[in-house]
Amino acid sequence: MNIAILGAGAMGSLFGGLLAEAGQRVVLLDIDDAHLAAIRDAGLRLDTDAGSRHVSRLAACRPEQASEAPDLLIVFTKTLHTGQALAAVERLLAPHTLVLTLQNGLGNVEAVGRHVRQERILVGMTTWPADLCGPGHVRSHGQGLVRLMPLVIQQQQAAARVAEVLNLAALQCEVDAQAWVAIWEKVAFNAALNSLCAVTGCTVGQLNAAPEGMALARAVVAEVVATARSAGVAADAAHCMASVAHALAHHAGHKPSMLQDVLAGRRTEIAAINGAVVAQARRAGIAVPNTEMLLGLVRLVEARAVEHS
Ligand code: NAD
Repeated sequence: MNIAILGAGAMGSLFGGLLAEAGQRVVLLDIDDAHLAAIRDAGLRLDTDAGSRHVSRLAACRPEQASEAPDLLIVFTKTLHTGQALAAVERLLAPHTLVLTLQNGLGNVEAVGRHVRQERILVGMTTWPADLCGPGHVRSHGQGLVRLMPLVIQQQQAAARVAEVLNLAALQCEVDAQAWVAIWEKVAFNAALNSLCAVTGCTVGQLNAAPEGMALARAVVAEVVATARSAGVAADAAHCMASVAHALAHHAGHKPSMLQDVLAGRRTEIAAINGAVVAQARRAGIAVPNTEMLLGLVRLVEARAVEHS
């Protein structure tokens, strides 16, 4: 399959590298020139549980330099950059091109839908972790999975073909009619842990330093699950809290991406996570005070960083 990865940071490089290793034709599209140059010079250094190696069968360029229509475009920018990134590649998309978003948060279908017809869109989530260690170097340890679905039922076979290609790269993908449950449950997890860590500076494990940490996480999860249910999605609070407990037990030292963004003075994905939950809760007439408070606090932290830059 001819695959383009739009936004080849931590996740895009991981998926692109594994897909290229599995024999697909992959181009990484990004605006980070140092990262692109390092990949073109020496290949992508990929550190996973399978070992450390350089993947050289990868093309890498800026979006505006790409010239071939992909069969599949995987969007892996941060949510706040989706529109700008897709605008640069819209001219490349052929009538048969499928566009898959596995980004965190809500609103990704709407963002992609401004550039792509509904029947070409696949949506899902992934629990694979990845970190960018430096230009041309990505690390991912532990296991993960992908759950995806087409927006229209007629594209079930196309979605199955994409899952098959991802599975050839051992990405543990299933087409799942309940993908929205998985998406919302990950939103609940992120709305709780990411925003709490971003405003407190705590690593995941440090949220256990005082009982208030877990009490707040539980309250946010309950609010997001109630909001999901108002949108007709049967998310499960116990399932979300099991993921939170797993993160505390196995990734205690991890700084969630929102905390990393805050520490680096970058804008975060708060709008797509807590922001989108608050918007849906308002439409449904549900009170989500803890989620809303964390939204406001992260926005304040972001604004302070911009003022100081
Ligand atoms: P990242 O910041 O490492 O990568 C994003 C990349 O997009 C960067 O390389 C950036 O240069 C690029 N980009 C920005 N604007 C662009 C544009 N206009 N055109 C092309 N490229 C552009 O982020 P990430 O950690 O890989 O996360 C990507 C998405 O996946 C996010 O929505 C995140 O929440 C989600 N996610 C991340 C993880 C993880 O462990 N890192 C796990 C699951 C889901």
